[in-house]
Amino acid sequence: MIKVLDEHERTMAFGEVALGQIKSLRQTAVPRNYEIWYVYATGYNSPLNKIINETLARNGKLTEADLEQIYETYLSQIKATDRIDTVGARVIGEIDDVMTLISDALGMSASYGESLSGATQELAIARDREQIKVIVEKLVESTRAMRDTNKTLEDRLSLSKNQISNLQQSLEAIRAESLTDPLTGLGNRKYFDRSIDTAVQNALANGEPLSLLMFDIDHFKSFNDSYGHLTGDQVLRLVGMSLKQTIKGQDITARYGGEEFVVVLPNTALRQALTVADHIRRAIMAKELKKKSTGEILGRVTISVGVSMLKPGDDTDSLIERADACLYAAKRNGRNRVICEVDPEYAAEYHGQVA
Ligand code: GH3
Ligand code: MG
Ligand code: MG
Repeated sequence: MIKVLDEHERTMAFGEVALGQIKSLRQTAVPRNYEIWYVYATGYNSPLNKIINETLARNGKLTEADLEQIYETYLSQIKATDRIDTVGARVIGEIDDVMTLISDALGMSASYGESLSGATQELAIARDREQIKVIVEKLVESTRAMRDTNKTLEDRLSLSKNQISNLQQSLEAIRAESLTDPLTGLGNRKYFDRSIDTAVQNALANGEPLSLLMFDIDHFKSFNDSYGHLTGDQVLRLVGMSLKQTIKGQDITARYGGEEFVVVLPNTALRQALTVADHIRRAIMAKELKKKSTGEILGRVTISVGVSMLKPGDDTDSLIERADACLYAAKRNGRNRVICEVDPEYAAEYHGQVA
C-alpha cells in the first residue's frame, strides 16, 4: 500500500512540474507538450533534458517547431523503438518454439529409425506368425506416432509462417509510421532526408534533372495568434491535403518542420518545377478556410515558395540551401510568390544587395 501511495505521489509531482512548465512558458496544454514536460520532470531521458535546457538557455523559449522536433526526435522514435523490440522478442519466441519442435521431431525420427532396424533384426530371427504379428504391430504403432509428430510439426510450421508474416506486417507498419508526420499524413523530416539523398544520387548518376521546392506558410504565427493553435493545425492538414492532391507519381512530398513543406521533383527541370510550384501556391490560396466548430470564415492562407534545380557538383545540402535562400527571397519580396534561382530577386539576395 505504501508503495502505491509513493508511486501516486511521485507521478503527481512529475505531473505538477509538467503543468508548471507549460504555464510558465505559456505553451498549449496539449498531450504532446504535457508528455514532453512530464518526461523532462522525471529526468529519465537525458538527451531530451539536454536539448530543452540548451534551447531555453539560447532562446529563452521553446517554439512550436522546437517542441515538435523534440517530440519527434526524443519521444515518438522511442515508442517506435519499443514496439520494434516487442516485435523482435516475439519473432525470437516464435523461432525458439519452432526450434524445440524441430528438435523433438528429430529425436522422434531417430528413435523411429532405431525401431525400424530393431524390427529388421527381430524379423530375421522370428519363428512363427505370432512373433511376426507382434513385430508388425510395434512397427505400425511407431509409424503412427511418427506420422502424428510430422503432422504436428507441419501444422505448427504453417501457423508459424502466418505469425511471422503478421510480424513482418507489424514491422512494416512501424517503419511507415516512423517516417510519417502524424498531423498531415505526409512524409516527415526523416523520410525527406532519406528520400532526397537517394533521389539526388540517382539524378546525378543518370544525368537527369531534379528540382526541389521548399515552401512556408505566410504570416502563420499571426494566424495561430488570431484563431488558436488547433485551428492552425487544421490549416496544416489542409495544406497537406492540397499537396497530396497536386503531387503525383514519383514526386516526394514531406513536412520539413513546423509550417514548412518540401517537394522533390525527380526528372523535372526548373521551368516545369516553377509550374508545379505555382500550381500548389494557387491551390492553397484558393481554399476558403472555415472553422469546423462554428462555421466562421477565417479567410485564406498563402505560401511563399523557393525553387532550386540540381546542377553538376551539387549535393543534397547545396540544393536545399539554394531552395531555402529562394524561399527567403520570396518572403522578402512580398510573400505569396514563387522565386527560383535564376530570378533577379534571388540573385540580389545571394549577392547581399537589396532588391
Ligand atoms: P512568415 O510569413 O515570415 O513565414 O511568418 P510566419 O509567422 O509564418 O513565420 P514564423 O517562423 O515567425 O512562425 C511560424 C509559426 O508557425 C510559429 C507557429 O505559430 C506556427 N507553427 C509551427 N508549427 C506549427 C504546428 O505544428 N501547428 C500550428 N498550429 N502552428 C505551427
Ligand atoms: Mg517558418
Ligand atoms: Mg511562415
